Amino acid sequence: MNCLFCAIAAGEIPSAKVYEDEQVYAFKDIAPQGPVHVLIIPKKHIDSMQAAGPEDDGLCQMLAAARQIARELGVDKTGYRLITNVGPDAGQSVPHLHLHLIGGKPLKWDN
Ligand code: 5GP
Ligand code: ZN
Repeated sequence: MNCLFCAIAAGEIPSAKVYEDEQVYAFKDIAPQGPVHVLIIPKKHIDSMQAAGPEDDGLCQMLAAARQIARELGVDKTGYRLITNVGPDAGQSVPHLHLHLIGGKPLKWDN
């Protein structure tokens, strides 16, 4: 399958890695929306959160990774946002499930 984030998780396309375990890979977003902007992905290809199922136990691990990354990047106390865009109306541009972890500045909520 020709998938950008599968290729990044496999190391075939370079990325600025911030975290990795057996199920999860995380790297800096190429077009950051804040001082901290990390993408957290399952190594297994899943199109989006809508396509995930109960067998996808890596999702819990993505949240655990988010907590650890937030601590390591110093936004656990100041706060951060976790977002996953699902489908066209949400502007999902890469069809491989990913959590955006954004922080390091006060964030507005403006869609
Ligand atoms: P989406 O719009 O699907 O929710 O988010 C996709 C994100 O992937 C965007 O924030 C975009 O900047 C990021 N992105 C797209 N291509 C690359 C890439 O090649 N490398 C990295 N590090 N981020 C990418
Ligand atoms: Zn993929």
